[in-house]
Amino acid sequence: MISVQLQSRSCHELSGREAIKEFNSNLKGGLTAEEVASRYETYGWNELPIKPGKPAWLRFLLQFHQPLLYILLIAGAVKAFLGSWTNAAVIWGVTVINAVIGYVQEAKAEGAIASLAKAVTTESTVLREGQTLQIPSRDLVPGDIVLLTSGDKVPADLRLLNTRSLQVDESALTGESVPVDKSIQPLPKDTPLAERVNMTYAGSFVTFGQGTGIVIATADATEVGQISKSMEQRVNLSTPLTRKFAKFSRILLYAILTLATLTFAIGLGQGESWIYMFEAAVALAVSAIPEGLPAVVTITLAIGVNRMARRHTIIRKLPAVEALGSTTVICSDKTGTLTENQMTVQAIYAGGQNYQVSGSGYSPKGEIVQPDNNDLESVFEDGFLSQALKESLIAGVLCNDSQLKHTGEHWSVVGDPTEGALITAAAKADLTQSALTASKPRLDSIPFESEYQYMATLHDADFRTIYVKGSVEALLRRCSQMIDRQGQIVPLEQAQIEQAVEAMTAEALRVLAFAKKIVAPHQHSIDHDNIETGLVFLGLQGMIDPPRPEAIAAVHACQTAGIQIKMITGDHISTARAIAQRMGIQKTEQVLGFEGQQLAKMDDRQLARTIEDGDVFARVAPAQKLRLVEALQSKGEIVAMTGDGVNDAPALKQADIGIAMGKGGTEVAREAADMLLTDDNFASIEAAVEEGRTVYQNLRKAIAFLLPVNGGESMTILISALLARDLPILSLQVLWLNMINSLTMTVPLAFEPKSNGLMQKSPRNPKEPLITKKLLRRILTVSLFNWILIFGIFEWAKFATGDVAVARTMAIQSLVAARIVYLLSISQLGISLFNYIRGRSALITNAPILIVGIVGAVALQIVFSQWNVMNILFETAPLTWNQWVICLLPMLPMIPTAIFANYID
Ligand code: ADP
Ligand code: MG
Repeated sequence: MISVQLQSRSCHELSGREAIKEFNSNLKGGLTAEEVASRYETYGWNELPIKPGKPAWLRFLLQFHQPLLYILLIAGAVKAFLGSWTNAAVIWGVTVINAVIGYVQEAKAEGAIASLAKAVTTESTVLREGQTLQIPSRDLVPGDIVLLTSGDKVPADLRLLNTRSLQVDESALTGESVPVDKSIQPLPKDTPLAERVNMTYAGSFVTFGQGTGIVIATADATEVGQISKSMEQRVNLSTPLTRKFAKFSRILLYAILTLATLTFAIGLGQGESWIYMFEAAVALAVSAIPEGLPAVVTITLAIGVNRMARRHTIIRKLPAVEALGSTTVICSDKTGTLTENQMTVQAIYAGGQNYQVSGSGYSPKGEIVQPDNNDLESVFEDGFLSQALKESLIAGVLCNDSQLKHTGEHWSVVGDPTEGALITAAAKADLTQSALTASKPRLDSIPFESEYQYMATLHDADFRTIYVKGSVEALLRRCSQMIDRQGQIVPLEQAQIEQAVEAMTAEALRVLAFAKKIVAPHQHSIDHDNIETGLVFLGLQGMIDPPRPEAIAAVHACQTAGIQIKMITGDHISTARAIAQRMGIQKTEQVLGFEGQQLAKMDDRQLARTIEDGDVFARVAPAQKLRLVEALQSKGEIVAMTGDGVNDAPALKQADIGIAMGKGGTEVAREAADMLLTDDNFASIEAAVEEGRTVYQNLRKAIAFLLPVNGGESMTILISALLARDLPILSLQVLWLNMINSLTMTVPLAFEPKSNGLMQKSPRNPKEPLITKKLLRRILTVSLFNWILIFGIFEWAKFATGDVAVARTMAIQSLVAARIVYLLSISQLGISLFNYIRGRSALITNAPILIVGIVGAVALQIVFSQWNVMNILFETAPLTWNQWVICLLPMLPMIPTAIFANYID
């Protein structure tokens, strides 16, 4: 157990060794399983409690915080004042039901999104029982030895023990956005938090380098824990679209209030009783506003999020759902997203000779042969392995941070596939990783970073040797010599090497170059300066990384949908071009490719033009991605951009949809992103776009379905009131229609499957108003139909029966009957039914929710008129069989009307 309950505040005063002792840990081996278990008893999970959101009762009350509901509450109060208690009770009752539905839906939507977010766990690399493990960060305990590399999120408060160019972004804690250089020297007691460079605190991000630290505080004992004590986990349900809706309903509200007041005044002026005019004004106000709409928007968005999760994308920020629907450009990484990330070395160039490698995957089955030399002779056959070839293979294995693993016949990589392929290639020449690492132990390393494009390791062999592997450009620049077949050092034959590179890249191979350097026997560490010059070139290995078949299909689908694809990669331009060619990523006959260096020289205007035209952008440094996004956006594009490294974060934030890799990417990229791909696959982006479009399509359907009823009701009330006739529909009945009936029938629209032509259309213009001219025409047409229906049936029934209550009830039932036809005409079910009748397509059967909605609505309507309680509450009357049949008749004229409405939209 920890000897002293050390205050985390004073750890910076201790030396690393003292800190380790204090926490009873071990730098070489870490904690043992028993220690971890017992510390876990004492300290618990390393996570902050989730902040309880607003209390339930408050969230419920907030449901009433809508202008529309104010009107209803006031109308209820006036009714109560006038002594119509039943009326008042029903109005209030309906608002309460509405609030309950809103509350439940909101809670469900939030719950769904929050649980998706939680499913993405943060992991840490820790040393325990002498082994390096990946564990969820919540499992850390004080005393654990944690390894940090760039891109990691610091999982707990750490006293640093080792650093290598370690830089940490501590802005979350200190507000200082410039990353801090870390070191390990003890500091004076009164050093302020922001200057304790030998510490790093939970919630910060490693932006560069590596380090090792010992956990000194977890969970709420950490500095962030001290400040906030809990984690904000409320999901924000507001999006541009919901804000547009809110604005729309506010405008509508003012319009309605004005109209209602005018009607009220005119009616009074004409000598109507003010009770009649009040009823008319309230009914008008209530009728015009689509009460069900906000709930439908939230549900539709939440369903979109769920559907995307099923198709491997996790939405972190809700507005992304909408943006996805209007995406015009997708900028995608090549390696691993468009391609399989299943690397196999197929070609080697060393000592002026070309070799071919057979076999596939990571299994060491296969041979290295030399095709130019006689016919396919194995490299071993002339008795010895070419020195240059051997050295290239050795460099590939030693300068490597990955391992191969096999279960039975199946071989896989733990680490980077590029590196796995190198181990496999060497194994095919009987050079095994275990033997090599044993005979040439590693002393130090510089890990691969995209900016530098190389990795280097220092080994203790006969000579102290640095092995380097990386991109051809990065390595050749540093070489002036090479080794030949016999292992002799000779001058570099640059032109010949470049020719070999061209040959490999044209075949879509990913090419890595290898080099070495002998250094002084006492050197025990390396940094970038050590390999600036004087490297000896060893050879090249070219590996195939086949395009993902489903990504090829997805690229094609995006193009059909009017979405441009740009490949952004750190790889060689010719490789990138060859892959793009195979995947059909090109706007014209030829794949148009550019290199990062070319882009760097362009001004913003030139860049914007180049990006619009180009297909492939190779050797792009992560820092350039931000400029690329901005250039595209300056052209009015809606940009989705993928990224996985630390330096991709600014571009991910700037993009309309920042996409991070759920499997591969760094924590930094994930935090910056709007969505995660759980399978790192381009095809999932396309799926998400499709779902984004479906969400929008379904919202439009909901609008097209809801508004004509409001239109029909308000026209009816306005005209009847101005003509001083009996109102065909009372305010309470309007409430019933707009809240109860509308919700049952509209919610199923949120579950609608995508329509057939959805991915054949071009992206929606994000500036396009919510209600386009076409949609407005459709709404007005059906509104007019509804008005004629309500008014006509009411007047006829009043004349025929002399009973106003029966006439109103019949008007409402007819409206709902016609509405069912209209709903079908909007839904996939109805459309497929229509095509089926015409013999054009098969009938879809997967619309259970729509059917439940319709059956539910019918049942509620029967209760509405046939149950005497409802008769009292809503002033309805029971209908006879004959009357019911008459109410069904308007379904017939609705059919041509709906077809016409579909046609004009
Ligand atoms: P991308 O992910 O777009 O393919 P990277 O930034 O990973 O691009 O790689 C760029 C180049 O860096 C590659 O073409 C290769 O030459 C080199 N490279 C990639 N991975 C490694 C590695 N693990 N070690 C050394 N060099 C590498
Ligand atoms: Mg990569």
